[in-house]
This record gives sequence, C-alpha cells and structure tokens, in this order.
Amino acid sequence: MCLLPSTQGNPENRVVKQFMCADKMIPHYYPNQLGRILLLSLQEIIGRNGITTVLNTAQLSNFIEDYPPKNLDLQFGYDHVSKIMIALEKVYGQRGGRGFARRAGYAAFKYGLREFGPSTDVSSLSFRLLPWRRKMRSGLNILADTFNHLAGQCVRVEEQDDRFLWYTDPCPLCIERKTDGPVCQFTAGVLEEMLYWLSGSKYFIVNETQCVASGDPTCLVVIDKKPLE
Ligand SMILES: [Zn+2]
Repeated sequence: MCLLPSTQGNPENRVVKQFMCADKMIPHYYPNQLGRILLLSLQEIIGRNGITTVLNTAQLSNFIEDYPPKNLDLQFGYDHVSKIMIALEKVYGQRGGRGFARRAGYAAFKYGLREFGPSTDVSSLSFRLLPWRRKMRSGLNILADTFNHLAGQCVRVEEQDDRFLWYTDPCPLCIERKTDGPVCQFTAGVLEEMLYWLSGSKYFIVNETQCVASGDPTCLVVIDKKPLE
C-alpha cells in the first residue's frame, strides 16, 4: 500500500509527489498482465528461442508458450522477474543481458501504453496539449501511480532543477539479488522510451545510479531534464 504524500507541494525540496510505504508486508506480486508484458517484450528482443532458453535457465519453464493471462490478478511473483533478469545475464553475459533488458524496457513501454494508456490521463486531449516539459512531469507521475496501484510497488518521483529522480523499493527487477553495481536496466529502458514518446522523439540521459542489489537502500534512476542535442 502506498499513501499519498505528506510533503506534496512542498516548494523547498520541489517534491513532485512522494509516497510513503505504509506497509512493507505487501505481497510481492506483479499482476499477470505485467508479467505477460515483460515476457512479450523480451521475446520481441531475443526471439522465441531466446526467451525459451532464458525461461529454462530461470527454472520458469512452465511459462514457455504459456504466458500469464491478460488480467490483473497478482500472481506473477517479483522473484520471477528477478530470476528472469539473472537468467538473461547468464545466457547472454552481463553486458549482453543488461543491454537486452534495456531494450526490452523500450518494448515494454509500448505494450504498456497500448494496454493501460487508454485508462489513464495520457490519452486525454488536455494531456496531449501540455508543453512537453510538463508532460514529462505528469507522465512520470502517471507511470509511478500505475505501478503503485497495479503492482503494490512504492515508486516515488522527485524533481530537482535539472533532473527527475525515480525511486523504487521494493524493486521486482533486483529483489533478492546481490551484484557489484546497478542492474535495473529494464526500468531505465521503460523510462527512456516514455520520455522519447512524451517529448516527440527526443533522447534523454537515463541512468540507474543506486540499486538495492548492490547495497543501496533503494533503486534510483536519474533522468536528465535536458534532452540530448
Ligand atoms: Zn535496482
């Protein structure tokens, strides 16, 4: 459960929206539909043979040719997501696996937009008419709300002068992992693709700088507000 912010609107630290995790004992499950999107987006990048090998390596062969159904039942464990990311690196190497995870994030945003966009403000005319910098802020908040609402996550977004900060804890991508650096490339990919879409095809620097898997208290993705030239 995430509660609405106590610090919302505080001009001093320019918090866009801050959530407090009221209960860390929330069940760690994605809705089936998000699990399905994860597998479809990976399949788009590594192909059907690739996803079969990854699912076998992750000891999740029950999902081969049998992706989760298109519903919001909380049945796709966070640990499944994490195991798939580990398997991706086992099969393709650390560099290759993380690169594919990032690209799968791009694809996942497109699937997510198609599936969930119509039920959010992003499809409204007023949203489409916003200047793109305001769209960027609203879009990040809408995406955070979607994860928090659907998957019991506790994503919060903060705004600074030159960047947005995207905090995730707990993080399905790296839950129960121990690594020597940030590994949540999939999240960075989703955010990068969303900003590309929101801004009308501009590229932004998006990087995970802190990760629970490598000992940080939360996963943190930093998003530059200024697009690349
Ligand atoms: Zn992480």
